[in-house]
Amino acid sequence: MEVSKIYHWAESLDKHFFSSAYRATTENRDVEFKPEIRQGLGVVYDLFGIEVPEEKMKYYLERGYIEVVKDVSLPACNICEDVCIRPLIVCPDCSSNNIEKKELMVHYDCNYMGSEEEFMQSQSRLYRCPKCGKELKRVGIDYGRPGFGYICRDCRSIFQIPLIWLICEKGHKNKVDELTIKKYPIYKLSNEIKKLLPIYNVVEDLVRELTLHGLRAEGFKHVKGISGTTYTIPIFIDGSPSIIVEFGLSGEIDERYPFMMVIEAVDVPNSIMFLILPSDFKPELEKILNPEKIKIIKIDDLESSKDKIIRELTSLHSVVMNDEN
Ligand SMILES: [Zn+2]
Ligand SMILES: [Zn+2]
Ligand SMILES: [Zn+2]
Repeated sequence: MEVSKIYHWAESLDKHFFSSAYRATTENRDVEFKPEIRQGLGVVYDLFGIEVPEEKMKYYLERGYIEVVKDVSLPACNICEDVCIRPLIVCPDCSSNNIEKKELMVHYDCNYMGSEEEFMQSQSRLYRCPKCGKELKRVGIDYGRPGFGYICRDCRSIFQIPLIWLICEKGHKNKVDELTIKKYPIYKLSNEIKKLLPIYNVVEDLVRELTLHGLRAEGFKHVKGISGTTYTIPIFIDGSPSIIVEFGLSGEIDERYPFMMVIEAVDVPNSIMFLILPSDFKPELEKILNPEKIKIIKIDDLESSKDKIIRELTSLHSVVMNDEN
């Protein structure tokens, strides 16, 4: 029960990531994901309005969805490397943290030092020394004002600079100069994902439609090839063989494109490729694509060709699955 809940959350988070990234790129917004400290949680990243743990960002990094811009350094506990650290200000004499910051006064005659309030009297505008009881009239002659300082309410110590401990969530105490540094990356969307984003909406629609037709289709699936290379497959239809659906977008097709597709088709184990190409795809490039491994469909426009793609894919699926039987 718990596991499937987490799974669905991860799945909808991916959806949130892709759709938000899609929106950001269509609006030409540059996005960066920066590490932030959340007490009790550690480092989180704001993924388009949802806070996610750093492991999720590493998962996206491994899949090539994001890339590192640069690192930032965060102070961390030198014992456990926790970055959730808070300052604890204590009395240097008795270590109590029951201390106050006060405007200080000193009576020169008896050398008594205390907070201004201690010298104030309720009915008078004059100050009176709480130790010897004398009235203080002239600043600089009867009394001095050394400025702000800290007073320990437990041991009455007065000091200019308190002792500052930096405490991690496990309670380890660090001095400022003992802290260690932990590096966290700032991420941005990868170029690979930016190439896939223009087809994001179409892929979502097609995956939904194919699923309704009973096919086990998945969008933007991360697949490892025999060579060890990983691919983000726009649509992956699970089966034996599986069908990998690739989209050749006019702007991206160059001389190398058919070779890359051939390599991918051969590299992904037990699969055939369904390659969607623009109708102006050069016939001489098409010759390179092995028809045994790669089925080609040419279209004018992606949005208006969805039904055609679904028809071709479902019939291809039934053909390859029957071949198997
Ligand atoms: Zn610690
Ligand atoms: Zn004290
Ligand atoms: Zn006095």
